[in-house]
Amino acid sequence: MADILPRPLQRLILVLAKLPGVGNRTAMRYALHLVREGAERLQELSSALDEARLGVSLCPSCFGMTEGDGPCSICSAPERRTDTLCVVEGIGDMLAIESAAQYGGRYFVLHKLLSPLKGVGPQELHIDRLLERVKVDSISEVVLATPLTTDGEATATYLSRMLTQSGVRVTRLAAGVPVGGAIEYLDRLTLSRAFHDRKEL
Ligand SMILES: [Zn+2]
Repeated sequence: MADILPRPLQRLILVLAKLPGVGNRTAMRYALHLVREGAERLQELSSALDEARLGVSLCPSCFGMTEGDGPCSICSAPERRTDTLCVVEGIGDMLAIESAAQYGGRYFVLHKLLSPLKGVGPQELHIDRLLERVKVDSISEVVLATPLTTDGEATATYLSRMLTQSGVRVTRLAAGVPVGGAIEYLDRLTLSRAFHDRKEL
């Protein structure tokens, strides 16, 4: 069906269809909408994409997102606690925790969880950077906020073992977080409670 469309439009559909939650039909609808809207709308999207490509990078401190090369807005906020670190799987988790407004410390984003089945080992989680940060920033508590899935639990167990060796207090979000539940999709109240009732590991 898409074969009858001009080649650049087919390419746009293929690229859009790679986005999460966007299937081929939706991708086609988006692509047709964009070209129908005309040059101005396409230019707007294109320059936003360019800006994201050139202006967004990983924060050198927490591995969250930052503008330019410096630390992100959370790592550089003077009012936040510098002695507490919350370890999350992804940036979506970090945003969810921020919207719960219960936590006032800093973060460390893993981007991956340990997974023997998928072949993800400790070396892929830049754990050395985490341990270094705990030491350099004199962190007194690390809150492990990985999801309550098999991989999330395996990661928390591994990190807890590595971290307690360095003498830091390690806690884990538990109460209210459903087993198998993604942190990212929890409501604010549940997350807020989970933080408040975090348990020692
Ligand atoms: Zn940061």
